Amino acid sequence: MTPRLKPLALALSATFVLAACQKAEAPAETAAAPEAPKLTVDLSQVAQQPISFKAEDLDTSIEACQDFNGFVNSKWLAANPVPGDRTTWGAFPALGERSLQVQHEIAKAAAAGQWPAGSMEQKVGDFFAAGMDEAAIEAAGLAPIQPELDRIAALTATSDIPVYLGQAYASGQGMLFGFFAMADYNDSSTNIAYAMQGGLSLPERAYYLEDREDYKAARVAFVEHVAKLMQLAGADEATAKAQAQQVMDFETRLAKASLGRLELRDPARRYNPVALAEADAATPNFSWTAFFAALDVPAPQTFSLATPDFFKEFDAMLADVPLEQWQTWLRFRAIDGASPYLGSAFERANFEFYRQTLAGQKEMPERWKRVLGALNGAMGEGFGQLYVAQAFPPESKAKMEQLVGNLMQSLKHRLEGLAWMSEETKAKALEKWSSFTPKIGYPDKWREWDGLDVSREGYAANVMAASAFNMRYMLDKIGKPVDKTEWGMSPQTVNAYYRATANEIVFPAAILQPPFFDANADDALNYGGIGAVIGHEMLHGFDDQGSKFDANGNMANWWTDEDRAKFEAAAAKLADQYSGYEALPGLFVNGKLGLGENIADLGGTTVAYDALKRAQGEGFTDPMIDGYSQDQRFYMNWATVWRIAFTEAQLKQQITVGPHSPGMFRAIGPQSNQPAFAEAFGCKEGDKMVRSGEDRVVIW
Ligand SMILES: [Zn+2]
Repeated sequence: MTPRLKPLALALSATFVLAACQKAEAPAETAAAPEAPKLTVDLSQVAQQPISFKAEDLDTSIEACQDFNGFVNSKWLAANPVPGDRTTWGAFPALGERSLQVQHEIAKAAAAGQWPAGSMEQKVGDFFAAGMDEAAIEAAGLAPIQPELDRIAALTATSDIPVYLGQAYASGQGMLFGFFAMADYNDSSTNIAYAMQGGLSLPERAYYLEDREDYKAARVAFVEHVAKLMQLAGADEATAKAQAQQVMDFETRLAKASLGRLELRDPARRYNPVALAEADAATPNFSWTAFFAALDVPAPQTFSLATPDFFKEFDAMLADVPLEQWQTWLRFRAIDGASPYLGSAFERANFEFYRQTLAGQKEMPERWKRVLGALNGAMGEGFGQLYVAQAFPPESKAKMEQLVGNLMQSLKHRLEGLAWMSEETKAKALEKWSSFTPKIGYPDKWREWDGLDVSREGYAANVMAASAFNMRYMLDKIGKPVDKTEWGMSPQTVNAYYRATANEIVFPAAILQPPFFDANADDALNYGGIGAVIGHEMLHGFDDQGSKFDANGNMANWWTDEDRAKFEAAAAKLADQYSGYEALPGLFVNGKLGLGENIADLGGTTVAYDALKRAQGEGFTDPMIDGYSQDQRFYMNWATVWRIAFTEAQLKQQITVGPHSPGMFRAIGPQSNQPAFAEAFGCKEGDKMVRSGEDRVVIW
């Protein structure tokens, strides 16, 4: 588990007016300027055809009022099947692919040049070159992780485990439970440490416990995967098989004591501040005092020890699971975690289980894409500094600030006009509204990377050095004030997020492209795309989770009981709506798991539509582009943004793991509640795209 952001697959942040002014004054070059000599990148080879809404993609044989997703997206999806090296294809993945191509050109240019030691160009270039050197990686074998395996083998009793885990976590190898620094839910100005459940290799606890055919198959495949890795690392077949069963048994115990994703939606279940002595008493076999000392972190006054049932079981396992089984599990996790950076046999085993079996991906992506994935994980924001300098026009930022401002005003009007909410709660909602912080494009202040050594000598060594560096960066935050300028996503990420503890909405550079955003497009497309995304991120502040945090980002109840009850009743109706969507025969969306996202989509599109009307103003004359009105184009671009096809396995996984409803339902869910949509397309009561009477959901 990592610090919690609410990605959109999108999100956004910042103190609105102030940040907008500051950003407008700061020229992009100041923030992005790398040291001389300058990186020259040729982006002419990168596909420039925009993935934008086009009327010719519409399938006019399908009725918009019956199957809006089919009307907008089926033709394109039929002509553009999921590529073999992916598990989804559509607007988001295609933009992701383009971002990767741009990154590839940058990484190649960095690798080909001569740069001052320690510069970002040197680090990126050497990381990429080391990752592409397959012969050296093959020759290194298991050597990069042998020291870790030796430390595991040297454990003499389970009482050694707290110190071992502390050292492993400090080196960036977090294995058993989630551990991270984040703003205190009770005091959002200060970072504290959080520990919570973890340790599962399969995507969710249900995979271990539920009697479903695909889960049962995943369990069989997992045991085979563990045995294969153990053999690759030197065990004979019989030993490897026995060890694989031990790993499965170990994780099944953890799974049984874990909370499901749905239960974890409640922030109160992710937060449990305790004094260090209390924590030590809660897990008599695991000394948190020793763990923090091994992390080389000053002993905290308090930290959050959530998911108590999990830690109770973990503690019991320290007493009753033999040391040898612990060592087997730790050894498996060390090898499995490093497999993507080891030789081809390890990498292939990793791909075959996690991507092919669990997600239905047919082919491994090309080497350069895999290395860029690792580079993004290792130093995404540093790499992003080079990306922004090459690929983000400064004028996009100004245009976005204007859009965010319009969306803010529309949300204010809606909050003021809510018929179901008391004036008392409304005043608090408006207070929260007034403290939104938007962040657009890239950070005003870039993170420092001094102290991270990257060389061409060893790919796995670079990855491990970055893991340790990033972990130390996070550990250093514990007990310190929260840095509000920090970003939780790199600029080259096609996504956005909301962070409740900072009440911020954040839009990385890479999402500010068609079909989301196009400085040359008509308003309808921009409001139906990025406008609705901006609204979506804002509304996360008022969804089932965000509404439990106040204007200062502290977990607090600012609602009257009566208003809260009304909100929950409307939310339950929305959950029911999505739970009625059948993704595969017999497999329905989990409307409760996706509730926050769906509240955000419903409110986001509503607010964006209002903002479009405000932008058009009185006496607006509709230009009727390609025979379609602005209202129609607004909704058609919303559906274009969510255009997507899945492999069957990936679709099943997304429904289990959540929280996002699959895109084909996001493309239709919100507007089926909106009279403006029905009017735009001439839909009538009884049409599939029209929810009316008691079924119609209005929240924000
Ligand atoms: Zn979201």
